[in-house]
Order: sequence, then structure tokens, then C-alpha cells
Amino acid sequence: MVTRTPLIAGNWKMNLDHLDAIRVVQKLAWTLQDAKHDTKDAEVAVFPPFTDLRSVQSLVAAERFDLAYGGQDVSEHDSGAYTGEISPVFLARLDCQYVLVGHSERRQIHGETDELIGRKSAAALRHGVTPVICIGETAEDLEQHGASAVPVQQIRTILADLPAGDVVVAYEPVWAIGSGQAATAEQAQEVCAAIRAAIADVRGAEAAESTRILYGGSVKSANIAGFMRQPDVDGALVGGASLDPVEFAAISRFT
Ligand code: PGA
Repeated sequence: MVTRTPLIAGNWKMNLDHLDAIRVVQKLAWTLQDAKHDTKDAEVAVFPPFTDLRSVQSLVAAERFDLAYGGQDVSEHDSGAYTGEISPVFLARLDCQYVLVGHSERRQIHGETDELIGRKSAAALRHGVTPVICIGETAEDLEQHGASAVPVQQIRTILADLPAGDVVVAYEPVWAIGSGQAATAEQAQEVCAAIRAAIADVRGAEAAESTRILYGGSVKSANIAGFMRQPDVDGALVGGASLDPVEFAAISRFT
């Protein structure tokens, strides 16, 4: 049996400028270092706005912080006439280990489709950046189809043309994002297990066993432990609660 290293990922969304980023990353890294003895073996990553990434990279490299980071989106193209887009080549040059793709806010506000999210994931993989592929059902989907049907269909479509490579999947029920109303640990487990079964179907049992599946949606230090006890939940994608470095460090210890 493969053991999957838990990943606790903080999505800052459009919050914290590059000066705030330096303050928050320092505080986060120091808090994590201080708590090293009672830290479970989790990998911790932050996803700041693009304009912060260079500052975060310089700080993490200079201080040798044990902290991963990445962008919140990526272009499907490497270069060219795509005003406002960010190339996966640029993210790789800044030593980003990860990039978020297909967050529900990108789907809802920017009309991103599963096909586009698949191509963005492929672009990230081409340059050695691991895509964190976000999927999840809306409240309406939940009512009409139950919890698993939509996220399972989304991951099937995204993986269909995606070359082999390490990916992380983040299951985020849209109704739980920013609402303060998280899914229960049992609900998260049920859907994450269904997603893993779908990955096994498309990519084989071995790939499914090694793929990390995160839960996201109103995660905080008070509810993380329940999610982490579930066999198919391998970490969390945290929004609002990741802006406070002490709270985010507490989530990363999932005590
Ligand atoms: P939340 O956001 O933790 O604030 O609910 C999660 C996300 O959007 O990734």
C-alpha cells in the first residue's frame, strides 16, 4: 500500500499584496518550525496572487523555509499573444511546485470548462508543475444529482486527455466554499472515495492509490481533524482561514 503525504494548501485568492505576503509567509514558516515536534508529516503550500510570487520565492529560497507555493491559475499556452495570461514556464522559473486549476471561482466568474481545465493541467505538467485540479458540485447539483455525480464527471473529463503525471485533486463542494458551512467528514469521505474510484477507472489502480485528494470548503482548525481521519481525504484546500498564518499553521498540524 502506498502512503500519501498529506498536503495542506492555502488559497489566498485576491488577498494580501507582496508586502503582506512576506509578513505572512515569515510568520507561517516560523510558527511551523516552532511546532516541528508536534507536526504531523504534512506538506504545506500557499497560493498567493501572481504579483506576490517573486517575493515568496526569494524569501523561501533565502531562508530555506520548508514551504511549497504556486499560482492560482495558469495559461494553457507557453507564450504568445495572450494578454493578461501567465505562462506555466514562468511559474516553473519561480520554482512553483504547484498551481491551482479550475477553482470554482474561475469556473463561475470566468466560464472555465472541464476541457480547458484539462488543457491547463497538461500545460502545468509539461513544465514540471503539479496541477491541483479543483472539482465540486453546486447546491443545485447536489439537490438534483447527489454529491458525487458531478465531481466524478468533472474529473473523468479533465483526465480524459491528460498525459500521465502527478496531479492533486481538490474536492470542493461549491456550497461549502466561503459559507462557513463545511461538508461533514463523512460526506467528504464518500465523494473523495468516488473520485478515487473514477481515477482508478481512467488511469489504473496504482495511479489512483498514489493520487492525493484534498477536501476544501470552510476548513478551519476546529474541523480539520475530522477530515484528516478519513481514509480517502489526503489534505485540505483552505481559503479564508489560510490568510491568518497562526490559524493556517494550526490547520497544518491538524490536531
Ligand atoms: P474557504 O475557501 O476555505 O474560504 O471556504 C476554500 C477555497 O475556495 O479554496
